[in-house]
Amino acid sequence: MPLPRIEKTDLKLRKHRLYRLVLERQGDVVTSTEETPATLHDWTRHAAALTPRDGIFVDGSFRPAQSGATFDSVDPSTGRVLASVASGQAEDVDVAVTAARRAFDGGDWSHASISERKRVLVRLAELINDNSVELALLDSLDMGKLVTEAHTVDVPSGAGLFSYYGEALDKINGEIAPTEPGNLALVTREPLGVVAAVTPWNFPLDLAIWKVAPALAAGNSVVLKPSERAPLSSLRLAELASEAGLPDGVLNVVPGFGDTAGAALGLHPGVDVLAFTGSTATGRRFLRYASESNLKQVWLECGGKSPNLVFADADLDQAVDMAAFGAFYNQGAVCSSNSRLLVHKSIAEQFVADLIERAAAMLPGNPLDPAATQGAIVDEAHTAHVLGFIDRARTNGEIRVGGQRSTVDGRGCFIEPTIVTGLDSCAELITDEVFGPVLAVQTFDDEDEAIRMANDTIYGLAASVWTNDLRRAHRVSAALRAGTVSVNTVDALSAQTPFGGFKQSGFGRDLSLHALDKYTGLKTTWIKL
Ligand code: NAD
Repeated sequence: MPLPRIEKTDLKLRKHRLYRLVLERQGDVVTSTEETPATLHDWTRHAAALTPRDGIFVDGSFRPAQSGATFDSVDPSTGRVLASVASGQAEDVDVAVTAARRAFDGGDWSHASISERKRVLVRLAELINDNSVELALLDSLDMGKLVTEAHTVDVPSGAGLFSYYGEALDKINGEIAPTEPGNLALVTREPLGVVAAVTPWNFPLDLAIWKVAPALAAGNSVVLKPSERAPLSSLRLAELASEAGLPDGVLNVVPGFGDTAGAALGLHPGVDVLAFTGSTATGRRFLRYASESNLKQVWLECGGKSPNLVFADADLDQAVDMAAFGAFYNQGAVCSSNSRLLVHKSIAEQFVADLIERAAAMLPGNPLDPAATQGAIVDEAHTAHVLGFIDRARTNGEIRVGGQRSTVDGRGCFIEPTIVTGLDSCAELITDEVFGPVLAVQTFDDEDEAIRMANDTIYGLAASVWTNDLRRAHRVSAALRAGTVSVNTVDALSAQTPFGGFKQSGFGRDLSLHALDKYTGLKTTWIKL
């Protein structure tokens, strides 16, 4: 059934429709028992009551860093310090890895029955939903995303992943290999031991869960190092996992900086698997850490510069809506953000004009205000980084809308959604990931040129194609070098489908049953009968 038509001017409804499209792709979602705050006043009242956890979580409880070092978690929309968080160093990583190893070897989780693991993971999903207001606020205040998006999308889909993997456990079988008579060869998947998960700031809770849920489901112990820019929801997640019944030491969280806590995890000989999500530059370091230490397995989910191809035969009204969504959702801080728009020359002028109208209406607002359509940028350093791209683009392209830093109530890190046209194919806005609300537009003459331009990148995380010609949809999707190609939508994903990249976007796959492959090793048990 087609979606009801929503008039261009009805921004509130259109936003609602976009939410629904996002929610539809989240898969197995458990409903919250909490009452949803409805107004800025409600959210502000809940925010005032928050007590962020700020220690290192090891062996089931919080403790300070051994050095006593801390760093501030700052709300980028106000500059207010939310918490002074323990800054984990190598010695804290060592304690966490030792606890994880002890828990793994002890077997309370790694050898627990499937039904017990399922019970705990499903219970954790319930607890996440029961605390959805708090978790949504922690992410929103920590890194500036809209609290309603965190509450309606991130938290329920994160909870859904724990129930997805918990429920999957008793539906996965091993194999018997076809050997010669007189032999029985069993092929099973075994947990690998201690998994180190290092995660970014853009979807702090969700991306931690993308690693933690399948790693725990498979029976491993985990040491999670969240981004120093948004550690608070991961710390609360660990506490909820304990409350759900996860044995002590099975999930440990060490907040801290990349070059200290992150590097110490990367190099630690007690870590068996490194599951990393972040930039391609940091991903490279993790490959080095593994080769310089114990050849631990490394799985990389890195950056992107994803193209959105719009052909003239597409449903253009919907394509415009979703092009804006694909570029500016989460202030453009999405690894698979559709940050390059490739549009057919014959429709480009009107399409860009419509897109400018959409972008102009998405002005930044207080992230706690349900009426806001854009939140804050994570911090001053990233704001300067994104504005640098915009300023340099003024000399080699044309800023058609946005391009300015803005404030809300006279403060905070905000950038207007920005659209740039007229760039050369080698301009940095075409080639480099910005990770902010900046869309670069190019035009093409025919399908071959569109494919060539789309693939002309070191990245290969995602791509979108808009066409009503079924044969073109197949032809172009097949030709695009990207881990996910979305046809007549953008950035499609679900718990049930693998997500990851080609080329320098990495090589691991999160989500779906395939993610379990990263956290298990194949074992052959050969019995001579
Ligand atoms: P980042 O690479 O700066 O940091 C990611 C994590 O690595 C953080 O926890 C950080 O502390 C740690 N780190 C940084 N330097 C390190 C070092 N020298 N040694 C060890 N650890 C180190 O990335 P970010 O700014 O947090 O996130 C943005 C990037 O993440 C973008 O490139 C984005 O595309 C990518 N990303 C990818 C996916 C995906 O699924 N492919 C999803 C989300 C984000």
